[in-house]
Amino acid sequence: MIQADFHIHTIYSADSIIQPKTLVDMLVAHNFIKVAAVTDHDSVRGCKATCELASAYPDILVIPGVEISTEHGDVVILGTDELPPKPWTPEVVIDFAKSIDGVSIVAHPFRLYGMGDKARNYKVDAIEVLNGGSNQNANTQAKELAKSLNLPGTAGSDAHQVSELFSVYNKVEASLDIDEILKAIRKGCVSSQVNRGSICF
Ligand SMILES: [Zn+2]
Repeated sequence: MIQADFHIHTIYSADSIIQPKTLVDMLVAHNFIKVAAVTDHDSVRGCKATCELASAYPDILVIPGVEISTEHGDVVILGTDELPPKPWTPEVVIDFAKSIDGVSIVAHPFRLYGMGDKARNYKVDAIEVLNGGSNQNANTQAKELAKSLNLPGTAGSDAHQVSELFSVYNKVEASLDIDEILKAIRKGCVSSQVNRGSICF
């Protein structure tokens, strides 16, 4: 079992101030969250930089990813350090994720830049049911959407500053291995948790 935050922005997103090194230091210091996905807006530079830094530490894992701004809302891909081909329609982005054995997730469906009920039209792997930047109502709606589509639900802090890191996280039935974690998400062996403290700074 690992504990992971699946939605984090670094300085390679224009609206985030989290340095890759700070994220790695936070994972090293944290007492139970040891896995993080770096999902910058339309860029894979942050995940590449963070993965490289993290590779020096055997007990943490950074999953490369990206959050693509599609015309119908944001889609997170986990398991890629490459951008999907353009045009970035939901179909192209989701098909790309499938083709590389990644995981596609509808990010914060009921918030600004969320897909809302349009998510029903696409064959995504999961719905983000617990987003650290969404209010409770939006997260509840996302949970209901995932349930009605019979899709796994994931959690992500959507942190843009250090104090927001790991505000929510996932328990995943997998070991410290990217393919195993992605497989577990697709199978629904993942549960969303609110972090009620115990962060080590
Ligand atoms: Zn985001």
